[in-house]
Amino acid sequence: AKESGQSHFAFFEAEMQEKALKQFQIREDLESALHNHSFILHYQPKIDIKTQRIIGFEALIRWKHPQLGLIPPNDFIPIAEKCGLIIPMTEWICHEVGQAYDRFQQQGYTDISIAINISAKHFQTRRLIDLIEKTIHHSSIGYHHLELEVTESALMENLETAKEQLHALHQLGIQVALDDYGTGYSSLAYLKHLPIDILKIDKTFINGLAYDSKDRAIVEATIKMAESLGMRTVAEGVEEPEQVDYLKEVGCHYIQGYYYAPPLNEADAIALLKRYNTTQSCSDVD
Ligand code: C2E
Ligand code: CA
Ligand code: CA
Repeated sequence: AKESGQSHFAFFEAEMQEKALKQFQIREDLESALHNHSFILHYQPKIDIKTQRIIGFEALIRWKHPQLGLIPPNDFIPIAEKCGLIIPMTEWICHEVGQAYDRFQQQGYTDISIAINISAKHFQTRRLIDLIEKTIHHSSIGYHHLELEVTESALMENLETAKEQLHALHQLGIQVALDDYGTGYSSLAYLKHLPIDILKIDKTFINGLAYDSKDRAIVEATIKMAESLGMRTVAEGVEEPEQVDYLKEVGCHYIQGYYYAPPLNEADAIALLKRYNTTQSCSDVD
């Protein structure tokens, strides 16, 4: 690159070049995808372990790419974050979630919550509050039914603005969930100083519940700590019945994972609500 002048760059491996080209293509296409309505949201349910009812959904974005097919978020969210497109993208997500909530309501499901993933970029400015207020204003969703999922690393990048905004949103009734808990610094200071309602225990600790005593110890201790701090817990990535049994035993509140359902399109999410939340469950009766 040096040889060809100062403003040039080069890749030393074909594989790297291919990856960079793909990223470049994704970045180019992302912007037009946002205008062309090429994104969809899927909804993964969270189940109350005691009542076996759906208490809410997490909205997860997918991209219907004309050539590359359905692209998972890990392939484009980091790029959208880097180039700032995550801001208009999350605005679109919030708008969609509001509309979907209206349809859930029309079907008679008035007491579910919807969680939106919020990335670090949103804490760089003070615009998150405006976005949430706009979402609430334009839909039937109330503050108490909107949940924000944030990771420790997103908070860390802009701790002061994050803290300020989360406190303000929390005052309005917005629920705050700490995502992927246990994989970052797991700073107890965050749990003390931030208004966190829910801890989402990362899948990496859930995987080994049936056979790894360390995973069991970590999960049990996390649940106990959360309980003492007045927080609720969600186990992420639950796939096996043994994991559900253990989580029930140690008092985890909610379960999310393929064991119950993968992220679903809206029609399938409504069908699942019909199955889980229409009839009285056994545990409601006894
Ligand atoms: P996340 O927020 O931790 O979301 C959970 C991921 O685990 C989802 O992947 C979900 O499909 C997957 N998952 C759920 N249950 C299971 C299970 O039982 N087994 C396994 N193996 N996987 C399970 P997905 O949808 O591909 O999303 C990946 C990540 O992309 C998310 O991780 C989140 O960080 C990001 N993401 C997704 N949608 C959005 C969005 O709308 N906005 C932002 N900012 N980030 C998003
Ligand atoms: Ca999440
Ligand atoms: Ca997570």
